[in-house]
Formats: sequence, structure tokens, C-alpha cells
Amino acid sequence: MGLSSSKLGAQLIGAGLKSTSLTTREKMSDYDPNVPMLRQLLALQILGKLEDAGFAHEPLTHKMDRPYMAERIYARHEGLPPGMKVQVFTTVIGDGDNVPIEVRASGKDAIRVCAVYVTKDGKTRGLGKETRVNRTGNIEDIVERMLERMRKAWMTCKTVNRCRDCNSPVFITKRNKQACAELCWLNEEEKNKPYNPPRKKRFRRYRRY
Ligand SMILES: [Zn+2]
Repeated sequence: MGLSSSKLGAQLIGAGLKSTSLTTREKMSDYDPNVPMLRQLLALQILGKLEDAGFAHEPLTHKMDRPYMAERIYARHEGLPPGMKVQVFTTVIGDGDNVPIEVRASGKDAIRVCAVYVTKDGKTRGLGKETRVNRTGNIEDIVERMLERMRKAWMTCKTVNRCRDCNSPVFITKRNKQACAELCWLNEEEKNKPYNPPRKKRFRRYRRY
């Protein structure tokens, strides 16, 4: 794993150096959400960069009437420790058939990048703060900023703290505390309880580090 994982890491890091085939005119274009052509151009640049970096389109987790309207999520786990992946919520929709492949029109939408750990029972835990890339300015710069965040998330996966008891990664809870991602101090029943926002005076269950 050692050699090949560092090679894959280098491949991800190196993806930014690969030149994509933009004409000089396109390089100049500032993104404008009101121009469909620019929404499509940005979407293609985002997907191209993700594929260069070894990311793959994740299948939908639930059924949708119009799956091509779902935001495309890309992820990569190769080269990372077991259970970990870097996920990118692209703001890209469409299938090029029913709807053109383009970023969502809302200017407020941001590309989100996160480092996650999938637990043994299939729950997704964020390993660091999710980072956002605003889609403003030059298209090439937007895609470059996305790649930067992907590298950061990659490093988060590689360097995350480990639980002292079971060696699972430590994640950030909704209360902004660090806790073992496998919740190894709870029994099976407790693990499957839905999350309840803590009330005042309630005993804190999170193991603190
Ligand atoms: Zn643990």
C-alpha cells in the first residue's frame, strides 16, 4: 500500500499541472451564471479536472424521478486509508441528454469539498470542516481553487487523529467536538439512536480529547 498510495497521492497533487484544452478566449472568461454557455463550460471544466484527479461520479443513494437533476457528487478513495474518501459536491447537474450538463444557475450555490470517513456500518462522518468554493471570477481560477481544497481534504484524510482505544479516525461532531468515528464507547443499540440535539444539563457522552 505504501508505495502505490504515495504514487496515487502524487497523481492527485499533480493533476493541477496537467493543462486542459482551453482556448485563450475561454481562459479570459469570467463566470456569469446568467449565461448558459458559461454554466456549461464551467461544468465541463469541473468534471474534467475531477476525472484528471482520479475522481469518479458516485451513484445516487436514493431514487429520483429525474436523476439528471441531482447534483453530481464525485469521490476518490484510492490511495487513502480504508473507509476514507474525498468527496466533491460539484453543483453540476444534467446528463447531456434530458438536460445539458451545467452548473446550477443559483449564484449562491458553492462547490463543496469534504474529507469523510465511512464507518463499518455505512455512516458518513466528516473528518474536517467542509470547504466551499464560490463560483465567482475566472473559470480556470474557480477550478484551481477546487483542486486546492481537494488537496487539503486529501491531507486531512492522511493526517487525521486516531481514537486511542480502537484506532479509528476521529471526526468532528455536530457540537464541534472530536469523537471516535466508530463511536466505539457505545453499545450497538446506542449507536443506532438518531441524533438528538443535546439539552442543557444532559450528561455529555462525547469522549473529549
Ligand atoms: Zn474508537
